[in-house]
Amino acid sequence: GRAEEGGRRPQHLDRLSFSPVQLPHLADYLPNLQTITNPLENSQFYHPSDEFYLSSSDVILRQTVLDLSGNFHSPSTSPHLSYPRAGPRKLIFFDPSHVRAAIVTCGGLCPGMNTVIRELVVGLWELYGVREIYGVKAGYRGFYSGEPVRLNPKLVHNWHKMGGTVLETSRGGFDLDKIVNGIQDRGFNQVYIIGGDGTMRGAVTIFNEICHRKLNVAVAGIPKTVDNDIGIIDKSFGFQTAVEMAQQPINAAHVEAESAVNGIGLVKLMGRSTGHIALHATLSSRDVDCCLIPENEFYLEGKGGLFEFLDARLKENGHAVLVVAEGAGQDMIPRTDAQKEERDESGNPVFLDVGGWLKSELKKWWARDHPDELFTVKYIDPTYMIRAVPANATDNLYCTLLAHSAIHGVMAGYTGFVCGPINGNYAYIPVKEVALAKNEVNTRDHKWAWVRSVTNQPDFGRS
Ligand code: ATP
Ligand code: MG
Repeated sequence: GRAEEGGRRPQHLDRLSFSPVQLPHLADYLPNLQTITNPLENSQFYHPSDEFYLSSSDVILRQTVLDLSGNFHSPSTSPHLSYPRAGPRKLIFFDPSHVRAAIVTCGGLCPGMNTVIRELVVGLWELYGVREIYGVKAGYRGFYSGEPVRLNPKLVHNWHKMGGTVLETSRGGFDLDKIVNGIQDRGFNQVYIIGGDGTMRGAVTIFNEICHRKLNVAVAGIPKTVDNDIGIIDKSFGFQTAVEMAQQPINAAHVEAESAVNGIGLVKLMGRSTGHIALHATLSSRDVDCCLIPENEFYLEGKGGLFEFLDARLKENGHAVLVVAEGAGQDMIPRTDAQKEERDESGNPVFLDVGGWLKSELKKWWARDHPDELFTVKYIDPTYMIRAVPANATDNLYCTLLAHSAIHGVMAGYTGFVCGPINGNYAYIPVKEVALAKNEVNTRDHKWAWVRSVTNQPDFGRS
């Protein structure tokens, strides 16, 4: 039995194969580019050894959880993807004195955007000696309208202490030709793009057009999504700050609910397509009685519904706290025809306020079923208070590592990529892959089961 298992390598393990993901490189279409030795070689802070530099054969495995039984069912499907490891290369493809770098932020706010900008500026300047760094104002449209601002370490030194983005952000304004013309006209040869799913889809298009025109311009994306809805990477920056900030409104909702007769505290948290913030905030708080997320459909009336659960909870405890992700229950909220058609400047469907709707449904329910009893719903929407804050310490460090990883990759000539941690190790990933990869809450796994056991909430007919 045991000895045999340890001694002999099961044959099916030979079927384990690795498939390295190819990262686009400027040399793919510009074969005559010269390389130079990394200036870190002469830096006073670094004493680079051969271990210090990474080679293109250093990879990170996408999956570290394998099923060695030979069944090869998910999540250990073969072949196993590997991505280049992020970090400095000994030979680089940009002469720092010829670099003109551009940094742009698009989409909604997220804690840590300013830190990423700051560290891109300071990293380019201090690590590689780049002196021409520009901030493109107000999203993609800044490439063709208005003037980019020149950035230097002195100017950005305290930006990591500020929420929002000093460069300003916007939605819409994506005009591919104008953007790439703007990049060419202004002589930018490194473009760093910070933004969410839409921004990354835009970055793919920009990268494709740059390849098509065979420009010596590297494009790097730094995914920004406070919702943590981007796949492949472990988590996105700002997410941990958001979970931390969400504790305050949950506490407030709890106090309000406890202090009322039949009090319900209702908190809406960010999460359009995924409920990660709501889930993590619920698991860290312990005061939440029910957590509603887009991945888990719910219903109000009847057996196993929300009202029945709250009725029992109020009888038992006198109060209840509800957390709802903004994308939950969108199908249940009545919409006018105009609302069905409504889109934001970037073309995304507009979300209706699930919190406001839920509050009024709760009140109607109570008035109908318990007309003579006191009842209070206190609804808190802390969205802007959560996302318009500076990054916490963990996210600040994370943003720094992301920015420096992006710089090392771009200096090494990689393009059309995104950097981020995969199982804790920083990797370069083609932006095309990241633009398509989703990260949804798995309501079949043990984390969601734990939510159910912490809250005791109904499973709305799932089991
Ligand atoms: P978040 O959703 O986290 O706020 P986002 O990046 O998804 O961030 P959007 O407003 O959807 O925010 O998009 C940001 C920018 O990317 C906009 O300028 C938008 O025009 C552009 N964009 C969105 N989708 C695409 C696409 N498919 N192709 C090209 N550009 C796009
Ligand atoms: Mg988006």
